Amino acid sequence: MINTLPRDPIEFVAEESMTAIPRQKPVFRFAPSPNGPLHLGHALSALLNQDMAVSAGGRLLLRIEDIDLTRCTPEFEAGIYADLEWLSMDWERPVRRQSEHFEAYQAALDSLIARGLAYPSFMTRGEIKTWVAAAEANGILWPRDPDGSPLYPPNDRERSHFDRQHLLASGMKHAWRLDMGKALEAVGEALSWEETGDGDRGRIAANPGAWGDVVLSRSDAPSSYHLSVVLDDALQGITHVVRGLDLFHSTSVHRLLQALLDLSAPTYHHHRLVTDKDGRKLSKSQGDTGLAELRNGGLSLADIRCLVGL
Ligand code: GLU
Repeated sequence: MINTLPRDPIEFVAEESMTAIPRQKPVFRFAPSPNGPLHLGHALSALLNQDMAVSAGGRLLLRIEDIDLTRCTPEFEAGIYADLEWLSMDWERPVRRQSEHFEAYQAALDSLIARGLAYPSFMTRGEIKTWVAAAEANGILWPRDPDGSPLYPPNDRERSHFDRQHLLASGMKHAWRLDMGKALEAVGEALSWEETGDGDRGRIAANPGAWGDVVLSRSDAPSSYHLSVVLDDALQGITHVVRGLDLFHSTSVHRLLQALLDLSAPTYHHHRLVTDKDGRKLSKSQGDTGLAELRNGGLSLADIRCLVGL
């Protein structure tokens, strides 16, 4: 059973009746991945988390999302600390580093496997592409997820138990995927979340089915973004998730995993994205100017706040 209670001290608030009732402080987190230098988009997210935590009288945590052991490096992680210090951010220690908690993610995955809700998938990216192209050549318009990637083909989901065991025993490279149909059935109710961000607001209906059989554990990393983010948010007692609008639709998957694993659901605030002059979202892989470069160029925190519209 996963402990969803925050471990930190609780604040006691005296009500009019003078009876002390416990009230949890709001808990925010900034959760960057050390797979490249932080840019202005990260600065907006980090500063907004800090501003909202301060105005709510809450706590701010920093979480290093480094499950991708090939792309995440100690140098990028050191860069994150340097950038955030320059932004005058103040976060609680110790910092949770996901690479130190693979056994927790594995335990959650094992529980889903034991319930028949996850299966091993063996197709490579290239094989998926070929399969989808063949299906579409036959006139089937194969569905895409909200990020535009084709849903995972049904082949591995439909394998017999014997076949699966045989392939696993042969040492074939595989990821673990959620059986979306069975997962939706297991939850059996419509899911939603509370949203306060810059896009749609209020009670948002979750639509996890649009993502198909999402990855829970990658072939090259012992977890996945979706699985580790919901576990950590619950384990760290996060009450407010503040992150970019690019993750708005992922929240549907997060709500489903929270329901399946009996985890608490935070409130979500998906903020606008920082774009370049052509309206393109900034990204590490496109080599957009990093915060360190701006710092070395003589910009101040006030300049950065102004550049991100805070
Ligand atoms: N680690 C993710 C990123 O750097 C953010 C995840 C989240 O805030 O939920 O994009």
